[in-house]
Amino acid sequence: MKNAETTVAKLVEIALRRFGMIEKGDRILIAVSGGKDSTALAYDLAMKRRWWPESFEIGAIHIASDFCRCCKVAAQELLMKSWDIPYVSVDVPIIGRLKPGRSMNCYWCSTQRRTELLRYAMDHGYNKIALGHHLDDIVETLLMNMLHKGELSGMLPVVAYDKYPVKIIRPLALCEETQVIAFAEEKGFRSAACTCPYGRESKRREVRSRIGLLTGGSSVQKRNLFESMSNVNLDYLSVESETD
Ligand code: SF4
Repeated sequence: MKNAETTVAKLVEIALRRFGMIEKGDRILIAVSGGKDSTALAYDLAMKRRWWPESFEIGAIHIASDFCRCCKVAAQELLMKSWDIPYVSVDVPIIGRLKPGRSMNCYWCSTQRRTELLRYAMDHGYNKIALGHHLDDIVETLLMNMLHKGELSGMLPVVAYDKYPVKIIRPLALCEETQVIAFAEEKGFRSAACTCPYGRESKRREVRSRIGLLTGGSSVQKRNLFESMSNVNLDYLSVESETD
């Protein structure tokens, strides 16, 4: 294994163990977009499947929308098959489902994609869905929710639903984006650039640059922001008003 691959493989292993992401007999559906993050995730889980103490199965799904065909589905399918990962692409009419008068946005798009992932997983016997969000995504979401929603919430490494027998797992939760990029470059993964006409979420871009300023580019401080999510001191956090 080369350097960047070793780093990511180790951080994923730590995350899988720390957050108890894999249990014996799991059937894990990996959401692949064609980007570097989910490709790196699929590769790493395909490798871990060979030696991980608890046996598990994986499959990959690509959600294709009615407005964004930027991903090279055929190439993606070949890549997944080369790693012995069953692959399927599902078309979802995301704009087609908008109610009259509503305009397209990232929240609607993400909700529709998530709904389809859950539906496919349940219909095909998967009990977990693996997403390619990394540590930077998680920290950005934490700050976005505080700044734009006035809410202390984030993207958890493991999410269990009350209503569905499926859990979301984020095995790249401890990997920084730069580490995933280095890994993808080292392996020669081609990332299909997102050409979505609605663009990347501008709020996320803005928060990303604010985090850079806040941490001075320090990995340690960025990781501390992440760790604060599992080190919550409620005695000094919850502010209640007289009317509550
Ligand atoms: S950038 Fe485009 S593809 Fe991505 S969540 Fe937003 S609307 Fe969907």
